[in-house]
Amino acid sequence: MTAITPQPGIMDIDLYQGGAAHVAGLDNVVKLSSNENPHGPSEAALEAYRRAAFELHRYPSSDHAPLRKAIAEILGLDADRIICGAGSDEVITFLCQAYAGPGTEVIHTEHGFAMYRISALAAGATPMEVAERERVTDVDAILGACTDATRLVFIANPNNPTGTMIGLGEIARLADGLPPHALLVLDGAYAEYVDGYDGGAALVDGRENVVMTRTFSKLYGLGGLRIGWGYGPAHVIDVLNRVRGPFNISQSGLNAAEAAMRDTAYATFCRTENARWRTWMADALAEIGVPSDVSCANFILARFASQAEAEACDAHLQSQGLIVRRVGGYNLPNCLRITVGDESSCRRIVHAVRQFKNGGADGSGI
Ligand code: PMP
Repeated sequence: MTAITPQPGIMDIDLYQGGAAHVAGLDNVVKLSSNENPHGPSEAALEAYRRAAFELHRYPSSDHAPLRKAIAEILGLDADRIICGAGSDEVITFLCQAYAGPGTEVIHTEHGFAMYRISALAAGATPMEVAERERVTDVDAILGACTDATRLVFIANPNNPTGTMIGLGEIARLADGLPPHALLVLDGAYAEYVDGYDGGAALVDGRENVVMTRTFSKLYGLGGLRIGWGYGPAHVIDVLNRVRGPFNISQSGLNAAEAAMRDTAYATFCRTENARWRTWMADALAEIGVPSDVSCANFILARFASQAEAEACDAHLQSQGLIVRRVGGYNLPNCLRITVGDESSCRRIVHAVRQFKNGGADGSGI
């Protein structure tokens, strides 16, 4: 026994489960378990990253001004109201650290991203799960769940792992209906995959109670570097900067992200390829009896008849060197989340699921 104990809430945290990357006995696997960009980052980002090697003895920029300027210029935002973090995960952590704490509540949706709960607990707050409507964010349910203790409301739009999203009108209704002490966090980790969607930036500009988080980990293919950002009202960005460490992002990460943001042609290429193969894969799977909701992101949530079928299919995919994500931890035990890979990965997925549905590669049953 020890008298040294962590703060309340910490021991309620279940460790975040990342996407698997290996299958025992196979070396040539395709990893479709973490929603990574199958094409990798832009050449310009790689070049900027390599150049940073000559300055490794220097501390990085502390105010991230060049990256904030690039984001602001390309997306038409106010650079002074952008904050950068080590992945959008860190911005989520800042939000909980700054606005939640013992005696307060943090709302997230039924199938919402795991880090909302983890960060809320880490801050000593109480996470409150709110039901969705058929795997879609339910604004009325969220409004109904707000109390005097609500401080933060997290919604991912599009959501992970469902891939669904709600319209800007619904988000505005949510923002307008929240109690005055609650901040709405619009997690736009997958916003770049939606043509013409600003991630909620205009809503942020028009209100004092909305923050948007974004990432370079998905469309920009820089998950390994850990760079995300937030956009919010001046009063919120000021607060978040007070809890942010001065050197929270490496210079190589900052340089690569700036180049990635400015390479809009490559971003368009990745968005277009993703949309094309996402539709192809979803349609092909639906035809063989594996439906999914229309996805707005870079993955699809494939639905099976039962948990047993989903797990058996996952085992078959693994045997074929294809790693996807089980989502039982997200209350979706009969589903598998499959990242949209390149053409060959999508074809291999459909081929393997068809084999599975037909009773195995050799017709012997699985
Ligand atoms: N939000 C959502 C909805 C996500 O799916 C992810 C990554 N899985 C993140 C935030 C965090 O991404 P990162 O920290 O790499 O920016």
